[in-house]
Amino acid sequence: MKSRYDIVVVGGGLGGLTAANRLARAGRSVLLVEQHTQLGGLATYFHRKGHIFDVALHGFPVGMKKSLRKYWGSRFAEQVIQVKSIRFHNPQYRLESTFDTADFSRKMEEEFKIPRETVRAFFAAVANMNYYDDQTMTTREFFQKFFPGRTDVWRFLMEPITYANGSTLNEPAISYGIVFGNFMSEGVYTFLGGTDRMLQMMREELANNGVEIALGTQAEKVLVDGGRVRGVLLNGQAVSCEAVVSNGSLFLTAFELAGTEMLSAEYAEGLKAVRPSTSSCQVYLGIKKGEKIPFIGDLVFHSTHPVFDADALCAPKISSRTFSVYYPEIRPGSDEYAIVASMNARFQNWDGLTPEQYRSAKDALVEDALNTVEEYVPGIRRLVDYTCAATPRTFQRYTGHVNGATFGTKFEGLRFSQELPSQVPGLFHTGSVGIIMSGWLGAANYGVIVANEVDKYLSTRQ
Ligand SMILES: Cc1cc2nc3c(=O)[nH]c(=O)nc-3n(C[C@H](O)[C@H](O)[C@H](O)COP(=O)(O)OP(=O)(O)OC[C@H]3O[C@@H](n4cnc5c(N)ncnc54)[C@H](O)[C@@H]3O)c2cc1C
Repeated sequence: MKSRYDIVVVGGGLGGLTAANRLARAGRSVLLVEQHTQLGGLATYFHRKGHIFDVALHGFPVGMKKSLRKYWGSRFAEQVIQVKSIRFHNPQYRLESTFDTADFSRKMEEEFKIPRETVRAFFAAVANMNYYDDQTMTTREFFQKFFPGRTDVWRFLMEPITYANGSTLNEPAISYGIVFGNFMSEGVYTFLGGTDRMLQMMREELANNGVEIALGTQAEKVLVDGGRVRGVLLNGQAVSCEAVVSNGSLFLTAFELAGTEMLSAEYAEGLKAVRPSTSSCQVYLGIKKGEKIPFIGDLVFHSTHPVFDADALCAPKISSRTFSVYYPEIRPGSDEYAIVASMNARFQNWDGLTPEQYRSAKDALVEDALNTVEEYVPGIRRLVDYTCAATPRTFQRYTGHVNGATFGTKFEGLRFSQELPSQVPGLFHTGSVGIIMSGWLGAANYGVIVANEVDKYLSTRQ
C-alpha cells in the first residue's frame, strides 16, 4: 500500500468494484479496501466441504449485460446467459414463465383472463415511469387502477419483486415500476461460471487497470482537513487521498466513517429517519458428488400462503421461499448440483436469540427447506451431504450492513446518499440505497454514476 492515492474506495461490493474500475480507466490512482478476505460483498460465494454456493446469483435484468460490456469489457458480457425456467407455485396459481414482457402478457391474458388492452396499458404505464415522476402513488393504488380486486394478478406481478428486494404494496409505485420494468423487458439472466468466475475476472481487470486491492482492510475514519477529505484511516494507518468512495452501509458511512459532527443537524436527523431495508435468510443444500437431481426449474417461487402478503414473506414462520437450482451447466466442466433457498427476513426476529435458540432456529430453516424440496425431488435427504443456513446476523457480520439489510435502505435513502458530498466534500457513497440503486444492476450502475461525480470533483479541484 502506498501513502497516497487519488481515491480510496471503501468496500468491494459491486458498486465499489465498478466505481474503482471506472475511475482507474479514467486515469486516476485508486486503492480499493475490503474488510472481508474476499471481494463481492453481498454478491459473493463460498466453498464448504467440496461444494460452492452462490449467495446472490439468482438472476438479474438484461441491462446488466450492457453495463458489464460498457464498464468491464465485452468478455464479461459474453458470460451473461438467460435463466429460462422460472416457476411459480402457490395456492392461487401454478405456472412457468420466461419472465419477459411477451410471456407475462400472454399469461395475464390466457391464465388470468385480463383483457389485452388492459395488459398493454399496464405495460405502457410501467415503461413510461421514470424516477422524476410523481412519487405519491403507491404500488397498491397502481395495481388497483389496472386490476381492481385481482389479488392473484397483484401477486403475479409483485411477489418476485418483493422476494428480490423486500418492497411492499405501500411503497411508491415508481420504485416498483422501475425494477419490474428492468426485469420484464427481456427476462432474467445469470453469469456463466458463477459469482467466483465473475469476481476473478473483475480482480484481473482491476489489476490490469492499475487498481490496488487490499483485502482484510477496514476503513475506520475519513480524515477531513480544511473542509474536505484529505485521507482515510485504514487498520490504524493514515493514507492520503483526495476523495473517498464508500460502498458500505450508508448509515455507517455518514455516522461513523465521517462522524455526526461533520453533518448538518437537518441531514443527520433526516438520515436517522431513513428505514433500512429488510434482510434475508438462506439455506444452502449441497448435492453429493456423483448424484444428480432432475430438472425442476431454475428459479422456483414457492409459497403456501393464501395471498400475496409482504409481511408474511418476512415472518419467522416461513410460508414462502425462492429456490435457485444450480445445475452443472452453470459452471462448465463441473458436475456440481446445489440448491439455495432464499427467504425474506427481519433482523429483529434473529437478534437477541441465545446461542441454542439461534442454532435450533437455523436447524429449523434447513429442515423446512428440505421438506419443501422433497415435493420436487423425492428422497432429497439421501442426495444432500452438506446443509447450512445464513440469517440476517450472517449478512450483517460479513458485510457490515446495519441489520443485515439486503438492499441497504428503503427508497428515501437515495437522497442522503447523493447529498453526502455536500456535507463532507470529497466523501461519496455508492451502492445499496433504495430499490433502484440495488441489486447487481443497480449497484453496478450507481458505482458508475458516483465515479463520474468523483471524477468531476477531482477535475474541478485541479
Ligand atoms: C441473499 C441475497 C440474495 C440476493 N440476490 C440477488 C439477485 O439474485 N439478483 C440481484 O440483482 N441482486 C441480488 N441481491 C442483492 C445484491 O447482491 C446487492 O444489492 C448488491 O450486491 C449490493 O452491492 P453493493 O455495491 O451495495 O455492495 P455490498 O454488497 O453491500 O458490499 C459492500 C462491501 O463493503 C465492505 N465494507 C463495508 N464497510 C467497510 C469498511 N469500513 N471498510 C472496508 N470494507 C467495508 C463490505 O464488507 C462489503 O464487501 C441479493 C442479496 C442477498 C443478500
